Amino acid sequence: LTHQPRKLSAEGITKTFGGVTAVSDVSFEVIPGTIHALIGPNGAGKSTCFNVLTGVYRPTAGTVRLGDEMLTDCRPHEVAKLGVGRTFQNIALAERLSVRDNLMLARHRLTRAGFVATGLGLPGARREQRRHLERVREIAEFVGVTHLLSQPTGTLSYGDQKRVELARALCIEPSVLLLDEPVAGLNASESRHMARQILDIRDQLGVSVLLVEHDMGLVMSIADRVTVLDFGRLIAEGTPAHVQQDPAVLSAYLGT
Ligand code: ADP
Ligand code: MG
Repeated sequence: LTHQPRKLSAEGITKTFGGVTAVSDVSFEVIPGTIHALIGPNGAGKSTCFNVLTGVYRPTAGTVRLGDEMLTDCRPHEVAKLGVGRTFQNIALAERLSVRDNLMLARHRLTRAGFVATGLGLPGARREQRRHLERVREIAEFVGVTHLLSQPTGTLSYGDQKRVELARALCIEPSVLLLDEPVAGLNASESRHMARQILDIRDQLGVSVLLVEHDMGLVMSIADRVTVLDFGRLIAEGTPAHVQQDPAVLSAYLGT
């Protein structure tokens, strides 16, 4: 269940909905060990890209690869199994389950021995259960929710739920983590904490990160590379400092 660092690549991704071209011939790579941001004005095609990368949409053209593995035709759970984790903008946790059970569920979905074998008390399953619990504790510790492990997730503050959502995504031991607006709805201090956390994911876990984000401050302070979309097309790519001064980017954001 441990995934090695691998490059996530989108090659010539196009996605049309009826007559609307949401994403047009977009290519970029998330290099292992980096934080990569996907930005652009509303309607630029960021969420569509994200959904193509995670198997929610099949692209009209183009391919998605993780290392040598082709993800283009994979379903979302297969993409997760292969090592691409994701969080959801609208938190996707089971509200009545405790934080611990939500995290255990995320791990069991990826392994053969599920809750059934565990419930039957099979020895191998029990051993595996203990290993999972240990790892869940480590991940909870890493995101700072150890004290909340027994709480039903529905009773947590929004900021804490965002952290648990992050822990849930880390439970699949991803090599790349896709974050959809990780600081949306967070206050200034929670946002700073999340920014620190994303840097720790890169530096301590060695997991590369692709983030879709509106908050320019966050992107410019933590991203190693930035890809900018506008009207479904890639208009700029490079370091934050580079894209910030790009005339095409300025005009896309200022609408000139
Ligand atoms: P962003 O996330 O950058 O705001 P989206 O990827 O959501 O942009 O949308 C890009 C374009 O594709 C928009 O014009 C949007 O209206 C259109 N679009 C996105 N999803 C769908 C869909 N499921 N059906 C039809 N059009 C869509
Ligand atoms: Mg969007």
